[in-house]
Amino acid sequence: MVDRRRGTGTWVPPETVEDIVRFHGHMCPGLAMGIRAAEVALREVGPHSSDEEVVTLVETDMCAVDAIQYLTGCTFGKGNLIHLDHGKNAYTFIRRSDGKAIRVSTLAGAFARSPEHAKLSSRVREGSATEEERARYKEQRAGRVEAILRASEEELYAVEELEGAEIPPVARIHGGSVSCDGCGEPTMETRVRRLEGRELCPACFGTAVPAKE
Ligand SMILES: [Zn+2]
Ligand SMILES: [Zn+2]
Repeated sequence: MVDRRRGTGTWVPPETVEDIVRFHGHMCPGLAMGIRAAEVALREVGPHSSDEEVVTLVETDMCAVDAIQYLTGCTFGKGNLIHLDHGKNAYTFIRRSDGKAIRVSTLAGAFARSPEHAKLSSRVREGSATEEERARYKEQRAGRVEAILRASEEELYAVEELEGAEIPPVARIHGGSVSCDGCGEPTMETRVRRLEGRELCPACFGTAVPAKE
């Protein structure tokens, strides 16, 4: 039995964590935070969505979102993942059937790096880190991942139930496509713009309209 109680560290099985890492490309503290946020959603809001049972609003577009997509089934392609560019590690999960909604937001300090880690990180990014510093950086990063996966939810996230949250409309299925009179590519009817009797895709429309002086 998987232990889904709060405060006991991650309950996502190691083989699933491996799948998530394969999907994202690497293990990192952000991905670990995403796993922990998705766990809250799976327990409080509902299981993996095969359609649009749950809709997720993410306030960041960083690593964590990949774990959330993988575990909750809220994906960009299905239209039940909405990005709000707020620059916060905060996530709102809404169940369509009854409107239950929770917002999971990172507690101040929960995701903080040690000053040494931050310094090593910028040296690695600049390409100026020595072999030794690189190894030390990797070690610290792995330690952070471990700590995040072991922490209790209460140490990482504030979870707030939202009353009367607005439920975003179901992803629209658009009817037809038309061929753009500029590039000839099939383009969703709803995205086509008209200019002097021609039907243009947004890209061709953008280059056809002279920039305002
Ligand atoms: Zn990452
Ligand atoms: Zn075009």
